Amino acid sequence: MKTILPGQTIGIIGGGQLGRMMGLAAKEAGFKIAVLDPTENSPCGQIADVQIVAPYNDEIALKELGEVSDVITFEFENIDYEGLKRLSEIAYIPQGAELVRITQNRINEKAEIRASGAPVANYVTAENFEELTETIDQVGFPFIVKTAFGGYDGKGQVKVDSAENLHEAAALFEHSACIAEAFVPFTKEISVIIQRNAAGESYCLPIAENIHKHHILHESIVPARVDEKVIQQAQEAATKIADHLALVGTLAVEMFVLANDEIVINELAPRPHNSGHYSIEACNVSQFHQHIRAVCGWPLRKPKLWAPSIMVNVLGEHVEPLTKMIPKYPDWSIHLYGKAEAKEKRKMGHVTIMTDHIENTLEEIEKTGIWSK
Ligand code: AMP
Repeated sequence: MKTILPGQTIGIIGGGQLGRMMGLAAKEAGFKIAVLDPTENSPCGQIADVQIVAPYNDEIALKELGEVSDVITFEFENIDYEGLKRLSEIAYIPQGAELVRITQNRINEKAEIRASGAPVANYVTAENFEELTETIDQVGFPFIVKTAFGGYDGKGQVKVDSAENLHEAAALFEHSACIAEAFVPFTKEISVIIQRNAAGESYCLPIAENIHKHHILHESIVPARVDEKVIQQAQEAATKIADHLALVGTLAVEMFVLANDEIVINELAPRPHNSGHYSIEACNVSQFHQHIRAVCGWPLRKPKLWAPSIMVNVLGEHVEPLTKMIPKYPDWSIHLYGKAEAKEKRKMGHVTIMTDHIENTLEEIEKTGIWSK
């Protein structure tokens, strides 16, 4: 395991908010930051020491990033796998290209989750629509068809309730092969963020309960309002997957909780996750600090939650009403990512509120009207 020390440079592929928050955590400890992003002054570019402005998969730009960096990490998984693999021959990428190959493709990802022994919904994979119609009996209605590549925030998915609307899934195959998985009648969605270093030391952050609006994360409530039994199963499953993948860095494991308190793993993200932003204020070690420790070969800190918290996402349409409310809520931790344009539904920032009264605070958030759209 290589140790990267303050004064050395961490290269980040992707200059969005996750890169920015990783970069800010690293800079606190005295690291330098280089970032590759197609936009100048991206959220991470604004705080970086070196900005390389080029498409993520530009071979020359990736090589340049490799040359100026002592270690390379990434803020998303949709990087060209072959390009990353080539880069790993000349640069130090402790998370490895394999983690990206697996998590950028739902078919690979599901197979690996299943192989780890963690529970997944019953599913089949299909190269084309015809194959889907032939194999879907093994799953049964209702089910959800998802493209293997490129789907996020509910995009690239079709729910099929009966044979009559099966044809609605046909268009998905224009993009890629698909998986069709049983619809899970969940009562809650939770996520476990697990972080691991090359020495095999790992810790889960306190588990978040996630509430979505229009398929986009709206609120994370921590600790998740679930039974202790669920917490244990969720942490065990995340640890199994992380060990199976020989994880270095961060893995966010999204899960469904069923009425009988069993869990089913939905999907993985090999990076800090929106549902872990609360940890910046509410924990002794944030997901970003721990991620930097993990990729730099430092020992990890055992996470501790200072107080129950709610994180609320700030999308483009929420920025103006939120800004007006700043004087009224001095206890809110406001994060805005420095994005140039506040487009509707675009993640612009988030707010974290530590509270001993989760239910009251949820009501209060609702009453502000900021998030009524
Ligand atoms: P995903 O892109 O896989 O995270 O899915 C987006 C959202 O769709 C999830 O957060 C769930 O609310 C819903 N969803 C995905 N898969 C299933 C499933 N198998 N059963 C029920 N709901 C699902």
